[in-house]
Amino acid sequence: MKAFIFLLQILWHFMIFAVLTILTQIGGIAWLVALFFKRRIIAFLGIYFVSSLGAIFLAPHFGRQALPCFSNENLVVASPLYCVLNRTYVTPEMAGVAGDLAERMATEFPGTQTRVLDASFPFWDGFPLIPHLSHDDGEKLDIAFYYQNDQMASPIGYWGFEDGPTQCPDVWPTLRWDMAWLAPFMRDTVFDETRTRAALLQLSQDPRVSKILLEPHLETRLGVRSNKIRFQGCRAARHDDHIHFQL
Ligand SMILES: [Zn+2]
Repeated sequence: MKAFIFLLQILWHFMIFAVLTILTQIGGIAWLVALFFKRRIIAFLGIYFVSSLGAIFLAPHFGRQALPCFSNENLVVASPLYCVLNRTYVTPEMAGVAGDLAERMATEFPGTQTRVLDASFPFWDGFPLIPHLSHDDGEKLDIAFYYQNDQMASPIGYWGFEDGPTQCPDVWPTLRWDMAWLAPFMRDTVFDETRTRAALLQLSQDPRVSKILLEPHLETRLGVRSNKIRFQGCRAARHDDHIHFQL
C-alpha cells in the first residue's frame, strides 16, 4: 500500500512537471527544485519568479531576447500572461521585424499599438511552444489582429475568430478548433480591415519575412496578395484570429 501511494505521488509530481514544462519551459524544473522545500508552493513561486527573471539575462546566450513586457510604446505584449509564462522570446532579427512593423503602423496610423501573442521560449531550438509546433526557434511570431476600438476580441488575442467560408472538412484529429464555447466571452469589437491589411502588406514586403499564415477567406476579404501569404492546412490551428509570420 505504501509503495502504491509512493508511486501515485511520483506520478502526480511528474504530471505537474510535464504541464509546467509544456506551458512555461522552466516551470517544470522549478517545481522539481521546490520539492526539496517544506513550503512547496511558496518555494515554487519564488524559484519560478527568480528563474524567469534570470531567463531574460540568459536568453541572449541562446540567441534569443524577450519582447518588451513593460512597455507602452508601439510594440506591446498583448497579455501579461505571455510574459509570466516565458512565451515572449524571439531572435534579435525577429525583434527587429516586429519593431519595424510596429513603428511603421504607428507612423501610418498614429496611436496604433501592435500586439504580440505567442513567440518562443527562452532556451533551446526545437523545443516547441505547444500548441504552436513550429514556434521552436525564436523565428516565429504571432500578432493580434487590429481592431477599430483598439480592444482585442479576445482577452488573450487568440480565438476571437473572424469567421468565413472554408474548404476544410470537419474531421478529427485536428488543431482546427473553433472554440465556439468561448464565443459568449468574446468582446464586441470591430475588426479593422484597413490596419490589418496594412500590417500584412508591410510584413509581406519585409525581405526578412519568409512566410505569413492566414486563412484564405481573409486573404480574399482583405484583398492582399503575396506569395509569402500561405494557408496552414486543414489540420493545423486556424489563422483567422491572429497573424503568424516567420523569418
Ligand atoms: Zn504562429
